[in-house]
Amino acid sequence: MIDLKDFEFDELAEFLKELGEPKFRAKQIFSWLHKGVESFDEMTNLSKNTREKLSKQCVVSTLKIREKYVSKIDKTTKYLFELPDGNCIESVVMYYKHGISICISSQVGCRMGCGFCASTIGGLYRSLTPGEILNQVIFAGKDIGERISNIVMMGIGEPLDNFDNVVKFLHNVNHPDGINIGYRHISLSTCGVVPKIYELAEKNLPITLSVSLHAPNNEIRSSIMPINKKYPIEELIKACRDYIKATGRRISFEYSLISGVNDSAENADELTGLLKGMLAHVNLIPVNKIEERDYHKGDKKEIRAFCERLCAKGINATVRRELGSDIQASCGQLRKKLL
Ligand code: SAH
Repeated sequence: MIDLKDFEFDELAEFLKELGEPKFRAKQIFSWLHKGVESFDEMTNLSKNTREKLSKQCVVSTLKIREKYVSKIDKTTKYLFELPDGNCIESVVMYYKHGISICISSQVGCRMGCGFCASTIGGLYRSLTPGEILNQVIFAGKDIGERISNIVMMGIGEPLDNFDNVVKFLHNVNHPDGINIGYRHISLSTCGVVPKIYELAEKNLPITLSVSLHAPNNEIRSSIMPINKKYPIEELIKACRDYIKATGRRISFEYSLISGVNDSAENADELTGLLKGMLAHVNLIPVNKIEERDYHKGDKKEIRAFCERLCAKGINATVRRELGSDIQASCGQLRKKLL
């Protein structure tokens, strides 16, 4: 069966044309799908005949909420969604002053193997389809009953390891007849799949690219992020500089501070040297605890000192505020199972 949400708008129009439907149908159906209807029968401006024709070969895909956890501290809401094949993924809704943001997953599991991240334990099961990525935005939005205005692709999985589906999703979620979220309100985070950073630059989407750096040199980075052995830090930074040149967009570097691993004054200075003169921002994340690993965050004073040392040398850096800590909804804590 075809999930119509896997089509981009033009593909949907072409598909409907082949079914003998008039041109205006694409807009009607696209907009129903993205509003979150759960069956063709809810598409009330289609004739019965059209609805029957569609249901013979297509489905309106949905996500089932298996579990929902709401933070008592800040209302952050974590969903465990069940996919049609029984696999589960997590998405997190966060409430900010500037609007509501959702952190979504791009794969079931992850094969990147970062040492401090829970999402990669157990490896990769499969990549999500464009429809499954989009459904997280649709069904979380439907559940909270409010408009989601920002998206961060920072949940489970490596988005650039599922490149084509992620790009389709981005086109669809931005489409004016769908949810219509501006590219400038979307961030995509990668652990550093260098060739795909170049491909992304070619797509010319004004989204924010976040790069998980986490170390100022190859020795430390390779010890915590296996991807660094394939694409060492010099190649990654060159790709980032080229990305900035090609797109004119600032890159956001994520740096999880792990006590005794990458958080010394020397590490801060080396990081400064690496990023000097770049149109970039450094997002410092005190490492979050995951039960399988023995990484710890430093105390607040050490984290502030690291941040101030960067800022003093002209690097634009901030410490990321932690949300949803009581429901394991923070960076690196998402996984495909129940709490
Ligand atoms: N695969 C992509 C998307 C995941 S984004 C990527 O690597 O960028 C999630 C962010 O949280 C990444 O920057 C990731 O490195 C970071 N992260 C993972 N585990 C973490 C942990 N235990 N504490 C803090 N940040 C963590």
